[in-house]
Amino acid sequence: MIAIQDQVIRTQYYAKHILKDRTVPDDLCRRCKRAKETIHHITTGCQSIVQADYKVRHDQVAKIIHQKIALNFLLTQENTLYYKYTPERVMENDIVVLYWDRTLLTDRTVQANRPDITLINKMEKWAFLIDVAVPHTNNLQDTHNTKINKYRELAVEIKEQWGLNKVTILPAVL
Ligand SMILES: [Zn+2]
Repeated sequence: MIAIQDQVIRTQYYAKHILKDRTVPDDLCRRCKRAKETIHHITTGCQSIVQADYKVRHDQVAKIIHQKIALNFLLTQENTLYYKYTPERVMENDIVVLYWDRTLLTDRTVQANRPDITLINKMEKWAFLIDVAVPHTNNLQDTHNTKINKYRELAVEIKEQWGLNKVTILPAVL
């Protein structure tokens, strides 16, 4: 982990420019061949990884959060290992409703209406819109702000539509 953080993993970029290994022909990513193979590129930017692995990582983080919420509000007793956990689309008891990756229908069209997790407290009349992202360290603040802006309209709409006192957009940015 520390090696990754200090960028001393033997990427093509590291081999060519830091180790100055002459047997390395170029510093391009061995997977996509389109960008320099840096830690940054591998962990967040490679087009040939993005569809599969980044999605799995994103979903695993979201599942952990979902399960903790479900346990906390007594929607389940099941404390499965996160990689075996499959969230139910809708969970509900007398106090809360918990949605997983569900489109929230609104009267007016909004630009984004499908947060990873939606938690509504029916008794206390509040909701959380939770959306997960795992960007590179350099983009943490940007990603956070992007998520807030993305769901702002939705928050306004459902607050009015569902008669809530408060809707909080909660980006879970790791
Ligand atoms: Zn690549």
